[in-house]
Amino acid sequence: MARLLLVAPPGGGKGTQGQRLGADYGVPYISSGELLRDHVAGATPIGRRVRPYLDEGRLVPDALVAELVHERLTTPRPLGGFVLDGFPRNLEQARLADTWEGGGIRLSTVVHLRVADEEVIRRVRERAKTGGRSDDTLSTLRRRLEVYRKATEPLIGLYRDRGVLVEVDGGGGIDEVAARVRQALL
Ligand code: ADP
Repeated sequence: MARLLLVAPPGGGKGTQGQRLGADYGVPYISSGELLRDHVAGATPIGRRVRPYLDEGRLVPDALVAELVHERLTTPRPLGGFVLDGFPRNLEQARLADTWEGGGIRLSTVVHLRVADEEVIRRVRERAKTGGRSDDTLSTLRRRLEVYRKATEPLIGLYRDRGVLVEVDGGGGIDEVAARVRQALL
């Protein structure tokens, strides 16, 4: 069963490619950002708590997001396969996920989509024009990119060392990238 994780900068195409991969493999696509935004939209206690973090482009507390994702992966019953987008997002979250019962998160492959900053900024600007997300402002994007470099990129070395990393050029059109991802996963 595919147990995939997508790692990419904000606007790097994790959502778009992740949904396609989920459909390809017949497994659920799960985005930590979406789980969090659902809580914000529903104005739940968790939503009220995490909203400032999302608005400012900072990471929400590790234990909170780990718990949300864990619940999604295990309730009502454990998922055999999945495509994960956005969790783990730093080394501490990876450590937490490794302690989950049943041998941890057990990722089969981690796909790193490499996208240049200029392309990320261009894409997010486009998304903002068409209604997009409330955190798609230039200042928030700068912060998200900074957080990505500092907190998330170290995951790439971790998964490379574990022998599960696949590197894909994430630049260009959606179909072009999807074809590269498929090729890399063969
Ligand atoms: P993007 O990668 O484009 O920033 P996401 O939907 O993955 O979009 O994340 C949006 C926001 O949700 C992040 O800026 C952060 O505030 C929060 N978030 C998502 N996943 C995590 C996570 N694993 N840990 C902490 N915060 C997260």
